[in-house]
Amino acid sequence: MIKCKKHPKYKAKFKPRSKCENCRLIYIDTRLSKIALENLGMETLETRWSDKIDFHNVAVWNIKNALWMAYYCGKQDFKNSIDK
Ligand SMILES: [Zn+2]
Repeated sequence: MIKCKKHPKYKAKFKPRSKCENCRLIYIDTRLSKIALENLGMETLETRWSDKIDFHNVAVWNIKNALWMAYYCGKQDFKNSIDK
């Protein structure tokens, strides 16, 4: 997993408390990976430079679910950021 050089103890399952751009990117990346795993069955979104494991055969309804989930998560994060 990627780590922030300024905040090496930050764990991406928690929302970043600081306004550190690296921590926020790690947080978003982790959420997207979770959505990909839960909706698309993809264990990672990292490029592994192998056609066999970098390309997937996925149903459109699963892609739609994953995109909806990403949209919803982004909307919630934005809402939480302005409610503070
Ligand atoms: Zn950081």
